Amino acid sequence: MAVFKCEKCGATKDGRCKPKKCPACAAEGCMQKQEEKKPAGGCGCCCKK
Ligand SMILES: [Zn+2]
Repeated sequence: MAVFKCEKCGATKDGRCKPKKCPACAAEGCMQKQEEKKPAGGCGCCCKK
């Protein structure tokens, strides 16, 4: 599952496919995929050199 966020109004929608338009403001082509927030476990803050 991916999360898509509207660049215009900030509304978010999750789904498998990228929405063609924002469900909130109906702007087209503004939905951008967001990185999923993964729980700590990789190298986030403890492996900086
Ligand atoms: Zn929007």
